[in-house]
Order: sequence, then C-alpha cells, then structure tokens
Amino acid sequence: MEPIPVNEPLLNGNEKQYLNQCIDTGWISSEGSFVKQLEENLAARVGRHYGIAVSNGSVALDAAIVALQIGPGDEVILPTFTIISCAAAIVRAGASPVVVDSDPITWNMDVNQIEDKITPRTKAIMVVHIYGLPVEMEAVLALADKYGLSIIEDAAEMHGQTYNGKPCGSFGDISTFSFYPNKHITTGEGGMILTNDEQLAEHCRSLRNLCFQPKKRFVHNELGWNMRMSNLQAAVGVAQLEQLDEFIIRKRHMGQYYTKMLANIPGLQLPLSQTEYAKNIYWVYGVVLKDDVPFDAEEVMARLREYKIGTRPFFWPMHEQPVFKPMELFDKISCPVAERIARRGFYIPSGLALNEEQMERVATVLTEVMK
Ligand SMILES: *Cc1c(COP(=O)(O)O)cnc(C)c1O
Repeated sequence: MEPIPVNEPLLNGNEKQYLNQCIDTGWISSEGSFVKQLEENLAARVGRHYGIAVSNGSVALDAAIVALQIGPGDEVILPTFTIISCAAAIVRAGASPVVVDSDPITWNMDVNQIEDKITPRTKAIMVVHIYGLPVEMEAVLALADKYGLSIIEDAAEMHGQTYNGKPCGSFGDISTFSFYPNKHITTGEGGMILTNDEQLAEHCRSLRNLCFQPKKRFVHNELGWNMRMSNLQAAVGVAQLEQLDEFIIRKRHMGQYYTKMLANIPGLQLPLSQTEYAKNIYWVYGVVLKDDVPFDAEEVMARLREYKIGTRPFFWPMHEQPVFKPMELFDKISCPVAERIARRGFYIPSGLALNEEQMERVATVLTEVMK
C-alpha cells in the first residue's frame, strides 16, 4: 500500500523551463527578473498597485506589522484559531495580540466578537482567511472604518479566492501571501506582501533588504531583515501563477468529491461548499468530529496513519500556546469554539497532486475508522 501524503504539489507547467532560464543566464539571486515579474503578476491578479516578494509568508506578517508602525502599547485583534506566525509578528513587535473565537461552521474568526475587543489602544485587525472560505469582510471593513483601524489581511491560504467577487488579498492596508508547497501556488518557500500604499510598499521593500539605504548603503536608520526571495523561487512562482485558475478548479472538484464520499458519515462535520459570499476553494479539506463521537482527532489520525494516510491536526489556539503562558498575554481568555475544533478537527490529504483513486481510498478508510 503506497502512502498517501497529506500534501504533494503539482509542478507540471513552465517551472522547469523558467528554472533553466535562471541557470542558463546566471540570474539566481533576488536581483533576477522573475522576482519583479512575480510581484507584478500577483499584484495585477489581485488588483493591487505594489507587490513585494519575500522569503516566506511568516516574515511577510513581520514586515506588515512593522511597516504599519505597530509596537509597544498597541493592540492587534486576530483570530485565536490561526498559525503562530500571526501572533508571533505582533508579539515580536512588542504589541499585544487580542484574540477572538471562531465561527463554528466556517472556522473563520467570528466577526461579531470583534467590536467588544476594540479599545483606545487597538491599532489594527489581522484578518486570517482559514482553510478555504474567506472571513466576512464587510463587517470587518465597517469596524475598521468606524474606529480608524488598519487591516492586515493574511491571505496565505486564499490565492485565487474571492469575497463577493473581489479578490482575497485586496482588502488589507497590507495583505500577505505564502508560497509554501501546501498552498495553492508554491515557490518552495516564499511569500508576498501586497498594498496600494506607495509608502508602505517602500517601507516593506526596505525592511526586506536589511534597510540598506540607497545613498549610504551601510548606514542604517532602522533594523530590517534579509527576507529576500531568490530568482529561482520566483521562477517557479511565475509558472505556478500561470496555472492558478486550473488549480482552483481542481481544488474545488477535489473538495466536492470528498464531500460526496464522506457525506454519509454521521460523526463528521464537513467544510461548507459555499457561503453567500464565496465558494470554498478547499485549501485543505478539514473535518471536525461531532460531539457524540467518543474519541478525539488524535485517535482518528493515529488510525489513519496505520493505513499510511497522512493527516494534520487543526491549528492550536493562540491563547492556549505554552510559549505565551509566561508572557501572561491571554489571562482568563476562553474561546470555546477554537478550543473544541483544535481537539476535534484535522485535515485529510488535500494536495494538488492527489488523484481520485487516492481520495477514494482515503474516504473508504475514514468511513471504516469512524465505525
Ligand atoms: C502558511 C501560512 C502562513 C505562513 O507561511 P509560511 O510561508 O509557511 O511562513 C501564514 N499564515 C497562514 C494563514 C498560513 O496558512
């Protein structure tokens, strides 16, 4: 029985050809032309003025926080159910993360809980689109407008997705993407910052490149990072972006196929195929064990592993992270939905290279295990 990995990317387009161009011309560093091309192509696709390619989606968030001048004394509201990168960027900048719980159906941040968390110190809302359906942006945009807050939009899982017909990644003062191999398009490792604001774009470009100065290169007024993307990575990204529409069609088909096969398992909550504002793009196919199921996600995942089927647990809530305990950031916070889905949720193989035969095996085994 061949193992079925939780993710395998598809690299069947012009990736090799563009990589060969890098090697044939010797342009492999971040100075190569594919970097600019990827920035321009993704910005155009999402309808933004500026793109800044970086080395991953996590550092894109670091740069976004610093560029928006968020620091000590400031608060940023974010979902507790997300990847550590979001809270880490806020904490590293010396600001305070303020979490909201999840919607039990979409697993996105419950936008109805945001307003109660706004204080005079709130600077921004970090919106994170989770697993395939976008956050209800209209409510977030209205709050940002009402209270004068910035929006950081983490669209790492949302390439090609739209909210009410408008591209995800077009809503934030700064929006970020990741190109890790499990995302809809990949550069191996990589990320992107998008904005319409020229000054923010310039600041992010400077932060990406150690804050070297144009005139006095080695004299620094600010501390940056080396978060540059190489031309080799960008070459893969340009080829991947050419295929994004096909990838989305493929992912939607996969999601619907799984849903058809798993719909009759009584103990499983499946992802919604659509909401009133978007059709799911199934970044990953997540499932949550219903309350009457007498075991946790960990046990199901262990059983699937015996059949060589790869899975991943759901995110672990930020307010339950051991690393934040001594910092006393989340004293007495409870987010019952996120706490439950973290323990009851997991995702099954969902990568673009997955074929129907593999999906059928996953569904058969999962059906069996759930008995
Ligand atoms: C993957 C991901 C990131 C981090 O991206 P990396 O490129 O792996 O650093 C950030 N936010 C979300 C929501 C993600 O899914």
